[in-house]
Amino acid sequence: MAVIYAKQALLDEGWATNVRLDLRDGRIVSINPGTGPEANDTRVDTLLPALGNLHSHAFQRAMAGMTEFRQAGRDSFWTWRELMYRFMERLTPEQIEAIAAQVYVEMLEAGYASVGEFHYIHHQPGGAPYDNIAELSERIFAAASRTGIGLTHLPVLYSYGGAGQAELSAGQQRFGNNVDDFEHLFDAASAALRHLPGDARIGIAPHSLRATSPGELSRLVARHGQGPIHIHIAEQPREVREIEDWLGARPVEWLLDNQPVDNRWCLIHATHMADAETHEMAASGAIAGLCPITEANLGDGAFNGPGYVEAGGSFGIGSDSNVSISLTEELRMLEYSQRLRDMSRNVLVPGEGSVGRFLYTSAARGSAQALARASGSIATGNLADLVAIDSQSAALCALSRDRLLDGLVFAATDRVVTDVWSAGRHVVRGGQHVERDAVFAAYRSAIERLVAT
Ligand SMILES: [Zn+2]
Repeated sequence: MAVIYAKQALLDEGWATNVRLDLRDGRIVSINPGTGPEANDTRVDTLLPALGNLHSHAFQRAMAGMTEFRQAGRDSFWTWRELMYRFMERLTPEQIEAIAAQVYVEMLEAGYASVGEFHYIHHQPGGAPYDNIAELSERIFAAASRTGIGLTHLPVLYSYGGAGQAELSAGQQRFGNNVDDFEHLFDAASAALRHLPGDARIGIAPHSLRATSPGELSRLVARHGQGPIHIHIAEQPREVREIEDWLGARPVEWLLDNQPVDNRWCLIHATHMADAETHEMAASGAIAGLCPITEANLGDGAFNGPGYVEAGGSFGIGSDSNVSISLTEELRMLEYSQRLRDMSRNVLVPGEGSVGRFLYTSAARGSAQALARASGSIATGNLADLVAIDSQSAALCALSRDRLLDGLVFAATDRVVTDVWSAGRHVVRGGQHVERDAVFAAYRSAIERLVAT
């Protein structure tokens, strides 16, 4: 049994002082406020529930900074996607594992305890399966195991190259499966996942409406009714138009009308929604999977935040393309994108209250739901997904406790993070991941071979 002593902790019921937490088998088994530390306790300043990062494509971390060179008239989400396909085409299984381990270290150091890996490279360059159909899933598992991040694996069904069951393009061959092949992959990945710690989970990810068909999506959802179910839904206006032309409804509207959308679902990039879609999605219980840094980087547009939050909608955050790994920047960008559009301040909180606290605690709960993890708050019985921050750092020391999360979201960087536990695994200590140097050395060597080819 491990014990954490925190000078202050944000519990399910609110702030508490002088708190001892007992951890056993990855869970919080008791919480005792108002007591002093004992000799063997791990002592921290301020303890918070750690967020899950609900949407990642790990391999894209290694292309961060490669696509920011302007070519007049030729820069859009779709031209970025072509560059991403060219980069991805050459990656070996060893490189995919090394990149994933590196980005998972960065996520843990940023204060995330878990990740939803939306995993869509399955095959060899050219599209032939590996001898082990789940080879690349197992590379992700190895990276998760090495770094101790809590993994919710989301193997992707990607059958078509565009709306209306278009053929896969040359750049999409490594993604492609029909539903039967996907089931083989899912079964093999599920079997291999049993070697990970007990908090690891597996769900499904029909890539998007454009990469499946209505009939195949229904088959898949019926077979995997327990969830989680993640789908890219309405990232780009062109995607909305193409789905409207094909299926006769906007993507979120079509999904809500034709699939049993509820709290098992996570709709990634619910960016382009009409007001009626916003209200219906909020009422469905699904999570809006928002990826503010990537959505800004790709020029996607801004989420309909005020309507969604006032309607009681749930959300979480993800780092998606992994162009920048920062929990504080992700939450800040979410609010700032709303302020810039609306020319207003303090947008994302229903009624009145602390924006930082609302964003942080809502994203903690929403990401936990999306990743099917019993976490998202500090409560007895929950997984010990915990982050400690230093309230005496320059960015935070002037703030009262009620403003601390506003300081974290708007004034601090991730450098205020001192410790992170994922399901009780104490992997970040003194601000650094315990395997940081070895993981980085493996990443550097994998990248040198990649850029040399
Ligand atoms: Zn994505």
